[in-house]
Amino acid sequence: MKAIIIDAPRRIRVGDWADPRVGPSEALVSTRSTGVCAGDLYIYQGKNPYAVYPGVAGHEIAGVVTEAGAEVQGPHYRRTPAWRIRRAGGRAG
Ligand SMILES: [Zn+2]
Repeated sequence: MKAIIIDAPRRIRVGDWADPRVGPSEALVSTRSTGVCAGDLYIYQGKNPYAVYPGVAGHEIAGVVTEAGAEVQGPHYRRTPAWRIRRAGGRAG
């Protein structure tokens, strides 16, 4: 997949990133749009001590659920959710 990749502080590019694998309590969202927030900026600037490089920027997204694990509940396929990426305990909305 294409992604905005932060390789190291102040080194950012558009590149290819391995497609994620969906775990039993996870959903795969095909991103249609993403925002860039202060958290991304801090990672880019090297000000987040918990940042792991390289990493993909943009965790506030809108997209379509294209795959979900067996434990995920809810009528989510082909809808356009918008949310912050986080663990949701097996539920997607
Ligand atoms: Zn954010």
